[in-house]
Amino acid sequence: MDFLSPSTWEEALAAKSEHPDAVPIMGGTDVMVELNFDRRRPPALLDLTRVPELTAWGPDGPHLRLGAGVCYTDVIAHLGDRAPALAQASRSVASPQIRNRGTVGGNLGGASPAGDAHPPLLATGAEVELASVRGVRRVPIREFYVGFRQTARRPDELIAAVLLPAPRGPQAFSKIGPRNAMVISVASFALALDGDARTVGTGIGSAGPTPLRAPDAERFLAERFDWDGGTPPAPADVHKFGELVAEAARPIDDVRGSAAYRRRSLAVMARRALAWTATDYREGTARCA
Ligand SMILES: Cc1cc2nc3c(=O)[nH]c(=O)nc-3n(C[C@H](O)[C@H](O)[C@H](O)COP(=O)(O)OP(=O)(O)OC[C@H]3O[C@@H](n4cnc5c(N)ncnc54)[C@H](O)[C@@H]3O)c2cc1C
Repeated sequence: MDFLSPSTWEEALAAKSEHPDAVPIMGGTDVMVELNFDRRRPPALLDLTRVPELTAWGPDGPHLRLGAGVCYTDVIAHLGDRAPALAQASRSVASPQIRNRGTVGGNLGGASPAGDAHPPLLATGAEVELASVRGVRRVPIREFYVGFRQTARRPDELIAAVLLPAPRGPQAFSKIGPRNAMVISVASFALALDGDARTVGTGIGSAGPTPLRAPDAERFLAERFDWDGGTPPAPADVHKFGELVAEAARPIDDVRGSAAYRRRSLAVMARRALAWTATDYREGTARCA
């Protein structure tokens, strides 16, 4: 197996163009598991750890630009205010060791429906920046997941960054698993309220072939939510929101949980996330008044 080790972004793109079948590796917390278990034997690995741009973050117009190689520990330590749901999700990933190595770009690259970064990125309407020697393009996250572990990334492209809109309201993430730490989710859910646009974003994990949104639930809540005063949503609306989120899921029975349990847990997580974000919204509105 060849090991390609570029030290600049230009070299990395050139290497991917010359070797489209080379497998990119950043933290290696997914790739090394696959190699160690002999699930994959690629002709080449493309090591991205020496490319400095990938581990940088900062403002990009109205967005926060997060290099694809930013690890969860940095998201938690530095970006809690600018990417609240993603930081919350990052805190739930694995152990400190994995959070030090594992990256948001790696989560996107593998595109496991159970990846914890996906629901917050979906709920907040992020964009993925893909680059190749041919140029750069930005793909809305909602168009990024095209099938089970399949993404819109072309063979000669690398994930350069993810672009997150500035939060314009409260966000929440929650995840259900058999225990509180070191756990791949049985189901996960993220919610983002946008008080300026008066819209709602959702993201569902581990309950379909790809990470999913719940568009009917988003529309329902956007129409019912008291955007001016932040009055707590009526219990019947909270219940309906939970049901619409559960209906949007396309879960299967597998070793981690049944489809029925996943739907049920999504309804519960959606109701809880709504209660948390509605409270935060009301308190924020009261502070601004
Ligand atoms: C013990 C353990 C526990 C875990 N727990 C969790 C958990 O709780 N939640 C969770 O979501 N995940 C978990 N994971 C999975 C893993 O840590 C995450 O998916 C992590 O985000 C992968 O990031 P990485 O940088 O290590 O990716 P890598 O392993 O380096 O790469 C992962 C995939 O992305 C591709 N890739 C990486 N960077 C790029 C790039 N710039 N451009 C294009 N493709 C790229 C690779 O080719 C590969 O297909 C766990 C893993 C382990 C070993």
